[in-house]
Parts: sequence; structure tokens; C-alpha cells
Amino acid sequence: MRPTVVILGRPNVGKSTLFNRLAQRKIAIVDDTPGVTRDRKEAEARIGGHDVTLVDTAGLEEAPPDTVAGRMRQSSEMALRAADLVLFVVDARAGLTPSDRAFAAWLRRSSLPVLLVSNKAEGRGGAVAAMEAYELGLGDPIAVSAEHNEGVGALHEAVSEAL
Ligand code: GDP
Ligand code: MG
Repeated sequence: MRPTVVILGRPNVGKSTLFNRLAQRKIAIVDDTPGVTRDRKEAEARIGGHDVTLVDTAGLEEAPPDTVAGRMRQSSEMALRAADLVLFVVDARAGLTPSDRAFAAWLRRSSLPVLLVSNKAEGRGGAVAAMEAYELGLGDPIAVSAEHNEGVGALHEAVSEAL
């Protein structure tokens, strides 16, 4: 069966931009109603030589304002239940937020395989800024710029090794 790769992270880190960068063929938009906790976008993608189902979790943005942990549970459990690999995305420009740290702690406690993706790391200083994410205890951050298509080859390789 195709492995499922789920893109996770707080709003505005660039999850959907990364999804669009990696996706080949959109196969489903599931329950896109605002406020519905299960909404997510799916696509077929070939990443690092693997045919995968890629999932963009949009639900976190739509969930009612609650605790981060609550939003995680409500919005992402459905997607994560099927996940063979999680791409946990943070924003190298904005730096780490309490929300990032809460997600990371949750992921460390889970048994899910996680790749840490530090997005918006384009240009001079981008790679350095991306390294802050080491602090999250989820391994080596993979510095990418989804928007400018930088570091995406290295991400493909990391996914290939992880699957
Ligand atoms: P999401 O809420 O996590 O799905 O984030 P989006 O994909 O909607 O992106 C949020 C904002 O970040 C948008 O304005 C994007 O254009 C911007 N963005 C996404 N990727 C990058 C990147 O690699 N570099 C920069 N500078 N901006 C980015
Ligand atoms: Mg999005």
C-alpha cells in the first residue's frame, strides 16, 4: 500500500505551499467546511522514489480557539492515525513559538516517525535560522524553502530514507 505522509504544523508556516510543491495530482479535498475538524487535502505524490499519499492538514487553522493540545487532538488525530510519516513544519523566519514547542512535545510522545522541516529558509542566513529547530528534539532540521524551491531535493532524500 502507498505510505501516507502527513504535513503538520501551526498555521502560516507554509504547509500548503509545501504540499503544492510536492503534490503531483490532487485526489481529494475532504470535508472542507470551515470549523469541521477533519478537513484535509490529499494528493498523490512521488517523493524520494516512493509513491505516497500526501496529506495537508488544514484543520488546525479552522479549529475553534482552544488549547494547542486540544486543537491537535481535534484536528489531526484523523490524519495522523493513517500516517506512516509526519513532516512537521516550522517557520525559520518567525522562529519557534510556544505552539511549535507544544506540537513537538506531542509528537515526541507519539510513536510516529517525524521529519522536522524548517521552511522559509531561503537565501543568506536561511540555513542558519533553520538550525534553531534542533531545540525541538525531533532530529536534524531539514532546511527548505517551499516557495523558492530550495532544499526540496534533500527533503525528498530524507523521506526516501524514512519510509
Ligand atoms: P499554512 O498555513 O501552513 O498552510 O501556510 P501557507 O502555505 O498558506 O503559507 C503561509 C504564508 O507563508 C504564505 O504567505 C506563503 O506565501 C508563505 N510561504 C510559504 N512558504 C514560504 C517560503 O518558503 N518562504 C517564504 N518567505 N514564505 C513562504
Ligand atoms: Mg494551509
